[in-house]
Amino acid sequence: TKIYHSLRPTTPLPPLTTTLSITDYLFPDLNSSPPPPTAASAALIDATTRLRISFSDFASRIQTLTSSLQNRLHLSKGDTAFILSPNSLHIPILHFSLLSLGVVVSPSNPASTKPEIARQIHLIKPVIAFATSETTAKIPSLRYGTVLLESPEFESLMMRPTTGDNNNNNNNNNKQRVTVNQSDTATILYSSGTTGRVKGVELTHRNWISVVAGVFTARELRSSPAVTLCTVPFFHVYGMGLFMRELAMGHSVVVCTGARFDLTAVMRAIEEFRVTHVALAPPIAVAIAKGNVMDGYDLRSLEVVACGGAHLQRSVVVKFKERFPNLQLAQAYGLTEVTGRVIGTVGLKECGVVGATGKLFSNSEAKIVDPDTGIGLPPMMPGELWLRGPSVMKGYVGDAAATTEILGSAGWLRTGDLCYFDNEGFLFFVERIKELIKYKGYQVAPAELEYLLHSHPEVADVAVAPYPDEEVGQLPMAFIVRHNGSTIDEPQIMDFVAKQVAPYKRIRRVMFVDMIPKNAPGKVLRKELIKLALSKATSK
Ligand code: AMP
Repeated sequence: TKIYHSLRPTTPLPPLTTTLSITDYLFPDLNSSPPPPTAASAALIDATTRLRISFSDFASRIQTLTSSLQNRLHLSKGDTAFILSPNSLHIPILHFSLLSLGVVVSPSNPASTKPEIARQIHLIKPVIAFATSETTAKIPSLRYGTVLLESPEFESLMMRPTTGDNNNNNNNNNKQRVTVNQSDTATILYSSGTTGRVKGVELTHRNWISVVAGVFTARELRSSPAVTLCTVPFFHVYGMGLFMRELAMGHSVVVCTGARFDLTAVMRAIEEFRVTHVALAPPIAVAIAKGNVMDGYDLRSLEVVACGGAHLQRSVVVKFKERFPNLQLAQAYGLTEVTGRVIGTVGLKECGVVGATGKLFSNSEAKIVDPDTGIGLPPMMPGELWLRGPSVMKGYVGDAAATTEILGSAGWLRTGDLCYFDNEGFLFFVERIKELIKYKGYQVAPAELEYLLHSHPEVADVAVAPYPDEEVGQLPMAFIVRHNGSTIDEPQIMDFVAKQVAPYKRIRRVMFVDMIPKNAPGKVLRKELIKLALSKATSK
């Protein structure tokens, strides 16, 4: 059967037997003096407070925090740390420090509710949490408690003592050596995969090394350092991969902080910090292409707008290119289960192919498989995209059944996405065939909402499916069969769910039906339901 290989130059990976954490791989100079030439430039900039951390401060904070985590908080290899925080300058520093000790990092969406978090904690069994004053109340008590990221205590863990301890003066990094194998688990992120409820995706140091491996070659290619604005969350594979790559390349990362997203603040930050690259998800690309948000700002520094996390409509791409012919609109396709982006467009020429999601990055392979026959398909024929390579996850934590369901034989991961390759090796996304809703790029698992709605005494049967929406991508819609005599209405259904889930998972449309269509094995026919809803909407 046809296997698609990457057409890009291969990026060499370190030998598997070398003990190496992702932190050591990305920052081999971390323990060296003199500091690297980029030391004085900003590594991280807070777009709201304008606070800057230089590369030399960044390095020294990682060194100090690493030894504090080890000596003062007693964390050691194999422990898991749960993180519940919006984006802040502390997050990359915390992640790199934990990872260098072999502590497993598990960040969750700070909008998650207490029951959602309880489930994640039960799954991954962390010994410690890092949170903010806004999120800490949602975390149960853990063996080593919860550390507040904006507290003086955390600052003190990160800052080198200026006085005292003479013994330490010659040795700023008193970290004891830890041997981290590339095959050790580095992070656990959350995803529902192709079916069912949320699971913990175990990614190893090797997985991360393989997706950032190109950075050192890329670093040579640019004459002036880039300034990248990150509007995407660090708890998602997209944001995490982004700060790893950008910082390793010596680029400045401007971080959108603050609990609420603010598009005009983004434009102001691009102007103020002379941003060259912006990373965003489709809803913001839609707003930029269709609205006037960019008017009145000096955005001449901007070169590339990178968009990923969900499908970007062709019409939006066309509009974007019309309005901003000098900007490169780069696209990327990926999944949490393959450590983020494995396909994307790079450079003017590739970004110019309208509708294409991109080409395979090096070290990854793909197949397009006919969902009915299991046969590999040639170019121009759509089928399910399967992926293989060093970035494919280890598995779902404690869920062997779900792991074997998505990770078939010979290392192929079934993406649940219907796609095709053209004759030049560009991937085109057709539609999602798995049970997953993407609202503004965030994952909403239908199974999770169905499970909740089934617990309602007036609901006899239910299905949740993605209703298409230009602005946000897809809306979670509930199809409800009421029990005899029940008069439960749309607001009551919405309210019942809203009380129990994070805001992005709320039910935003409801339709009452007589029955939920299912096929012979009992699988819900979600597509039929959506067709029904769309036909009702247009006949209104
Ligand atoms: P996540 O694990 O949250 O990144 O979700 C992965 C899923 O998001 C993929 O399986 C796709 O369905 C969707 N996705 C991510 N990037 C793209 C893209 N560029 N185009 C279309 N769908 C995408």
